[in-house]
Amino acid sequence: MYSSDETRTKVMNATTESIGKCAKFVIKYCDGDTRKEQLKKLEGVMEECCLLENKYQVYKASHFEIQKMLKQQNKSDGEESDTQKINIREVFNRKVEEKSVGVPSPKKHEKYIAFKNNNKLLLQAEVGDDELMIMGSEVLNVDPITKQMMTDPIRIKQCGHTFERSSIMSLLKNRRHIKCPLPGCVQKHVTVNDLEENRELKLQLGRALQAKGANPI
Ligand SMILES: [Zn+2]
Repeated sequence: MYSSDETRTKVMNATTESIGKCAKFVIKYCDGDTRKEQLKKLEGVMEECCLLENKYQVYKASHFEIQKMLKQQNKSDGEESDTQKINIREVFNRKVEEKSVGVPSPKKHEKYIAFKNNNKLLLQAEVGDDELMIMGSEVLNVDPITKQMMTDPIRIKQCGHTFERSSIMSLLKNRRHIKCPLPGCVQKHVTVNDLEENRELKLQLGRALQAKGANPI
């Protein structure tokens, strides 16, 4: 499941990244009403992407729980009848419904917020591209737990949310598993084995620091 999930995450990231690039070009080459119109359209596309991403997490978490349930069921009795199949669909729908309750609106999605902030920065100041990349990405460079800039980012494989290694490890210190610490995330079962280094972000952070004149990590 992980390999197709990783592919999906990559595709989704590439999509949102290219929406960001489109906005950058719109701001650079259009003005007036055209600029406003195009940016509004891109905001809509970004909102849809974030909505999809939220939905995907809900379905994935529900799927995961159903799989677990089925495994337990198969242990207790060998065969699966048609009525049980119908029940599973019902249980799945109920789980999706339950899990959809706490999910924040796509406009509160970190990617949507980062997109809006980046556009705002691009519109506010006519500064060099490199500088803008650094400023715009700072939103995603902050550890959601400590609100400090990350230096050693690690990602939860299932939901893709990234944290500073020391903060998430301290949460996992006395517990075998935790819920994803990002508010609104549906990922309820995270263990040390579910964490992986966010290599792209680590490289980005190194570049950003270098550009700022500090020592690279
Ligand atoms: Zn998460």
